[in-house]
Amino acid sequence: MAPVPVVDKGGIVDIILPVAAATGGSIMHEYALALDIMNTLREKYPEDIGRLTSISLTVGQFSGVVTDSLDFCLHMVLKDQKLPEVKVVIEEEEAMAECACGDRYPLTDLLQPCPRCGAYDRHLLSGKGIMIRSIEVEKEEISHGQ
Ligand SMILES: [Zn+2]
Repeated sequence: MAPVPVVDKGGIVDIILPVAAATGGSIMHEYALALDIMNTLREKYPEDIGRLTSISLTVGQFSGVVTDSLDFCLHMVLKDQKLPEVKVVIEEEEAMAECACGDRYPLTDLLQPCPRCGAYDRHLLSGKGIMIRSIEVEKEEISHGQ
């Protein structure tokens, strides 16, 4: 169940939107992801997008996404979309794995076995996706004038 976003007129909009489970790692991939993020925001917040001041993202440790490339591509897309002033904050999400034996442990390396039973048979509970955590929008009263 997705959390219901709280849209405040000005200030922080708390949202958690999954963007994509990423794979690969070429600059084209990060560019596509940046477009995805902007499309997702435009779709969800069409009235707020023009007043956007900041975007906060979480990038999973094993998402295959290069944080610097995503940051670069997002700025490129924001510039193209006439939003060059928008701040981008990207945080890395640590990976948690769940083993077939039921043990849950933080995964720091894909070659790391389960600390309880030594198996490699596990799945990632976190750390593999990209999330838009929050956005900040400018208050309506503020005008940049001309
Ligand atoms: Zn285990």
